[in-house]
Amino acid sequence: MNTMDYDLLVVGAGPAGLCAGMYGGRAKLKTGILEKGVPGGEILNTDMVEDYPGFLSITGPDLAAKFESHARKFGAEIIPDLALEIYSEGDRHIVVGEEATYRAPAVIVTAGGNPRKLDVPGEERLSARGVSYCAVCDGPFFEGQDIAVVGGGDAAVEEGTYLTKYARKLYVIHRRDELRAQKIIQERLFAQPNAEVIWDTVVDEIGGDQRVENVTLRNVKDGSTRRLDVGAVFIFIGFTPNSNIFRDHIEHTEAGYLVTNSLMESSIPGVYAAGDIREQLAKQVTTAVGDATTAALAAEKYIEAMRHEAAHAAPAAAG
Ligand SMILES: Cc1cc2nc3c(=O)[nH]c(=O)nc-3n(C[C@H](O)[C@H](O)[C@H](O)COP(=O)(O)OP(=O)(O)OC[C@H]3O[C@@H](n4cnc5c(N)ncnc54)[C@H](O)[C@@H]3O)c2cc1C
Repeated sequence: MNTMDYDLLVVGAGPAGLCAGMYGGRAKLKTGILEKGVPGGEILNTDMVEDYPGFLSITGPDLAAKFESHARKFGAEIIPDLALEIYSEGDRHIVVGEEATYRAPAVIVTAGGNPRKLDVPGEERLSARGVSYCAVCDGPFFEGQDIAVVGGGDAAVEEGTYLTKYARKLYVIHRRDELRAQKIIQERLFAQPNAEVIWDTVVDEIGGDQRVENVTLRNVKDGSTRRLDVGAVFIFIGFTPNSNIFRDHIEHTEAGYLVTNSLMESSIPGVYAAGDIREQLAKQVTTAVGDATTAALAAEKYIEAMRHEAAHAAPAAAG
């Protein structure tokens, strides 16, 4: 299998990876971005983005295309390949792909992750048509409507509380008879006059023609079913970071998020993480590109320092 050398490797061409690639290219680093699918990442799955500064409203695919062409314009190469493994050899990091092996002194991991799905009829068909996994991103689109939130952990209750400012009525649908969320977070939800928790209940189906119109609910205790009219369903039942191949040797949280310092450096010098794969408060395009900017600039400095050290070590070694 071919081995290809780069100055900077990026794993994943979502917003974070494309931004890191843009900075790498502008810094005149030979930059390769591995992408297993279509460049753009999770925003390809969203209809309108209204919270990326500079664009009052832009479709997710249009924003992704702009990120991609920006990265390419400054010379980043997008490599269609799936990263299977990463390890270090001296001061080089090796990324093993399906198609080739790639080597660089610095790697930025921007492999993102995926919101966990309910896997019920209607969920996929109505995704971005009222089915959402991001309250900050999509909440304002449903102002004045009845909204359902599915889940009972911190994320569901916190995001549900956030959505009460847009919802006429906010239903939190939870399969158990108590929430898993921390008590203080629960209290904030219960303090909202337009919030109601529907206990012991699961969603069997999400219905609607062009957009979400209702959810079919089933009480898990007595098996009874009913239909609830809502304009949107927000699903917060977990998020899976795409960190499987990094977990063996890079420090991560229990949930699989990579842990970094403020320079986005992971537990391995020269390996950085940015965007949704990193543990942080918000999963947004703005935070992903913010992380990626820091990671790329830190990686550039790291590479320069390495080169400087090598240049000064060489004469001494020769003498
Ligand atoms: C439905 C939906 C709507 C959203 N709407 C908004 C919004 O309106 N505004 C907003 O700011 N945010 C929104 N978000 C959140 C936003 O999309 C993410 O925060 C952002 O995309 C994170 O960027 P990222 O680059 O870290 O990861 P991702 O976007 O997840 O990109 C990761 C990339 O890495 C690739 N990859 C993964 N593993 C490998 C591997 N082993 N080898 C090669 N490639 C790999 C993936 O294919 C993917 O392209 C939304 C998210 C969803 C799910």
